[in-house]
Amino acid sequence: MLIVMQHGATAQQIERVVHTVEELGYQAQPMPGKQRTAVGLVGNDGRVDSSRLAALPGVKEIIHVTQPYKQVSREWKDESTVVHLPGGLTIGGESVAVIAGPCSVESEQQILTAATQVRAAGACILRGGAFKPRTSPYSFQGLGVAGLKLLAKARDETGLLIVTEAMDPEGVDLVAEYADIVQIGARNMQNFSLLKRAGRSGKPVLLKRGIAATITELLLSAEYLLAEGNGEVILCERGIRGFDGTTRNVLDLTAIPVVQSLSHLPIIADPSHGTGRRDKVIPMARAAVAAGADGIMVEVHPTPDDALSDGAQSLYPEQFAELMSQARVIAEATGRWIAEPLSAEVAS
Ligand code: PEP
Ligand code: MN
Repeated sequence: MLIVMQHGATAQQIERVVHTVEELGYQAQPMPGKQRTAVGLVGNDGRVDSSRLAALPGVKEIIHVTQPYKQVSREWKDESTVVHLPGGLTIGGESVAVIAGPCSVESEQQILTAATQVRAAGACILRGGAFKPRTSPYSFQGLGVAGLKLLAKARDETGLLIVTEAMDPEGVDLVAEYADIVQIGARNMQNFSLLKRAGRSGKPVLLKRGIAATITELLLSAEYLLAEGNGEVILCERGIRGFDGTTRNVLDLTAIPVVQSLSHLPIIADPSHGTGRRDKVIPMARAAVAAGADGIMVEVHPTPDDALSDGAQSLYPEQFAELMSQARVIAEATGRWIAEPLSAEVAS
């Protein structure tokens, strides 16, 4: 529920609303705006009797949020969220952020080469898993902390910010120490203890849609992060499981405009996991930018044929450079532009 204050409501009137909300057993979240202040009521799992609040001095109106998720909804906050990253980089504004890099961090040479190549083509954020959620326990599981350190080194050398996955609640603080954005993978979208911990990490979170998750479930998972006080959340459509085995997943690009109408949070697309096939990644990446995604995340490997994970969907560096030049034109045609990478001095 949102308690909208009259224009010119006094600090005491706002304070009284906050107290009343707390007396009713909920948390109050004052949200000062350009035109007027609203007080959000959080902690309810159903309709709250608003009669006591509606009668308080300075209250203009009460808005009941109709969606099961509250703080992530556009009803709660109409203005689109812009996630602020170090060095002034943003995701969710008018620019389109390009995140690129290998599936996994494999070695110093591999990640530094990949970083240099994607930076040269114009990506602004480096991806690469240090902790890998693999379907088989016998597949490469990632380099762990050593991988995080290599990512930090790549940031220092190239100016690319870092996004990498935290797989369990205990690992969040460690990942947050090195990463600029903490990724929560598709398999963990409904790992609620992980979400709660990531909500307290102090770092922006990239939340990937689960392979069988509805959009409502994705937004409810994001709500866990906001409920812990972390509003710096970026959603990611990465494909859902379909019945056709032609591609690895079905990249649901409809989710982009749908999420944008339901939520103020930015949403990006991952056409690599979304298709699983290198030759399908480029057209779907172009389509994601055309559909209005706030960014794309693309797997790129210096030598995909040698990749320890997801080689079949990893672009060759030349293909990525070609994609970037096309993405620039598409972004411009939609009134946007591709976010510029930072310099190494600013990022490190
Ligand atoms: C990844 O981006 O590294 C990854 C494992 O993706 P997903 O969680 O979407 O499968
Ligand atoms: Mn991968």
